Amino acid sequence: MTTWPLETIDENTFIDLCNALDSALHLRQLPDGSTTWDCDHTLTKTRWWIEHHTSLNADHVLEEFRYLGGFCDCEVLLNVMSVAREDGEEYEDEEDDEEGASDGLHF
Ligand SMILES: [Zn+2]
Repeated sequence: MTTWPLETIDENTFIDLCNALDSALHLRQLPDGSTTWDCDHTLTKTRWWIEHHTSLNADHVLEEFRYLGGFCDCEVLLNVMSVAREDGEEYEDEEDDEEGASDGLHF
């Protein structure tokens, strides 16, 4: 078993959510190399997705997200995901622990 740090949502569901948010937020690169996205500074998209794609209690999940620094949709991707990943040491996917690809979002 991996140590999954979130209590209200399981890993696979969270990854699905992140993928959905990733496209919903239109995460993209600008010509100058910086990353931009459309965030309305709410958790509307996150809540909507949870309510439509899971049987989880969205209030509980959002409460945990906020606790972990996810106060809007993009912060779920940025902050909550980094918490989730930090703990995922036994997550022996394609992550070698060399440089630990630290340039933010990658799926
Ligand atoms: Zn945001």
